[in-house]
Amino acid sequence: VYVVRIAPLPAGEGTARYVLSFRDISELRRIDRMRSDFVANASHELRTPLASMRGFIETLQGPARDDAKARERFLAIMLDQATRMSRLVDDLLSLSRLEVKSHIAPDSIVDLVPLIGKVRDQLGPLASELGVEIVIEAPPGKVEVTGDPDELVQVFENLMENACKYGQDGETVDVKISCDAGRPVEVSIRDHGPGIPAEHVPRLTERFYRVNVEASRSRKGTGLGLAIVKHILTRHRARLIVRSREGEGSEFTVRF
Ligand code: ADP
Repeated sequence: VYVVRIAPLPAGEGTARYVLSFRDISELRRIDRMRSDFVANASHELRTPLASMRGFIETLQGPARDDAKARERFLAIMLDQATRMSRLVDDLLSLSRLEVKSHIAPDSIVDLVPLIGKVRDQLGPLASELGVEIVIEAPPGKVEVTGDPDELVQVFENLMENACKYGQDGETVDVKISCDAGRPVEVSIRDHGPGIPAEHVPRLTERFYRVNVEASRSRKGTGLGLAIVKHILTRHRARLIVRSREGEGSEFTVRF
């Protein structure tokens, strides 16, 4: 998309002369469209649970006023909806904070071995609820990278939680930390779930992109986890590599 400007040059000998200038605004247009898509998506995601909560409140004020059983059930659903909205707002705030500081490089020395062990412990209750076991393979000693410890916890929490949520009941989630001489430090998180069809892989880190919206919602997803991961890794000058085959599970690798 171009903006074209036509400006007359000072009159020369008889003939009128003009300057045409072209400015490519495709990138600005693209960013603008992305921003308004994002606001529309975020509003929609918040509006859905709100509309449902209003419906339940109206029912509780009217037809279900004296029905103790319905009241219990509706209150439980409303609590679920409110929790979902809080999660969404937390993720939106995380993203906007990350955008503000995107140009500042984090500078602490972080040992990934205890950090990933801590994330596994935090995810313990979810993993056992979903029937998966998180198995960590790490080299002896420290595996240090430069980074922000809280943000790296967020990265591995999101990736390991996804592997548990979208993995296979009764299977393991395999987390491998490697730091071979002369090679970059890598952490790979592998699950044995249904995998991701190839056409979706390049878009996974887009905000609100989900392969299956219902599956994501039922697993308490916001659709923002991988977008947050990508932002944090960009700040850390690290990369996310996704390998996935339908029916064979997925592997998300962070390469520092
Ligand atoms: P969500 O909150 O929906 O989990 P994410 O941004 O974390 O959002 O992930 C985006 C989408 O990528 C998910 O909705 C899911 O469809 C897909 N996805 C992520 N991780 C996996 C995985 N390990 N296996 C299969 N699909 C996955």
